[in-house]
Amino acid sequence: MESHNFERLKAHILPLSVSKVFETARLEWQLVGVEISEEFDQCPCGQDILDHCYIRNRLNRATTYVGNVCINRFVGIDTGNLFEGLKRIQADPSANANDDLIEHAYRMGYLYDEKEYRFLKQTKLKRKLSPAQLNWKQKINRRILNQTIVQRRGAHQSR
Ligand SMILES: [Zn+2]
Repeated sequence: MESHNFERLKAHILPLSVSKVFETARLEWQLVGVEISEEFDQCPCGQDILDHCYIRNRLNRATTYVGNVCINRFVGIDTGNLFEGLKRIQADPSANANDDLIEHAYRMGYLYDEKEYRFLKQTKLKRKLSPAQLNWKQKINRRILNQTIVQRRGAHQSR
């Protein structure tokens, strides 16, 4: 089943871009945030999505969002295991964030300082944390989840 319609995605992205050729227009876009919503929304390609990738055009500052498949396949921005990492800490706020999530959280300013970044990196494969470490990890994970999980319908649209 191929439901990610490239022509529809292109028709959405091109008018928001400076270049009129998709192959160069897509290079104008950068990832500025991700969110997981609990109700379905639509990617510009027509596909129902829960995973939202917010993108901004570097040249004209336009913003929009696409789903996690289209951002990788068509826009060419690799989100790696970012959403898997997010879903893992959503299911268990004591879980370890993976590399892609740690990098994203740091870039987005969800981590307060380099110490938090180093802590997440050093403990990303650790099964046993001290009570203090566990406490710290939960605190950071909740902060990340607060920025990335949308419970109210349409909350992300008010940006
Ligand atoms: Zn799509």
